[in-house]
Amino acid sequence: MHEFSAACSIVDAAVAAAESHNVKRVTSVNVEIGEFTFLIPEQLEFNFEIASKDTIIEGATLKITKVKGRIKCQECGYEGETRVDPELPPQLALFAPMKCPECGSSSTVIIGGKEFVITNIEAEVEE
Ligand SMILES: [Zn+2]
Repeated sequence: MHEFSAACSIVDAAVAAAESHNVKRVTSVNVEIGEFTFLIPEQLEFNFEIASKDTIIEGATLKITKVKGRIKCQECGYEGETRVDPELPPQLALFAPMKCPECGSSSTVIIGGKEFVITNIEAEVEE
């Protein structure tokens, strides 16, 4: 139910924003999700639809932008985006980002990509 709780907090935040701006109808909600949230966009969209039912934002489209995770290597000091080998099968690729793309070390720490944020809400405002 990871996606459902994420969808609920997006809906809560979007509803609060819509209400405070006298919005008549919300057309879309734009979110950025970090790689390390491990949220599946299709699942998130599906749960967003359920969670937004009977709220002011019902019918709004959820637009998802995926953001690459950032890691820091404790061996060589590399700091930056993860790089996933596109040849890797998906079940391996999930763990692959943790490896340092410079030296291949697994002593890395996540410094970004664990968050999801609402970047923009598009709406029709009451006259
Ligand atoms: Zn390294």
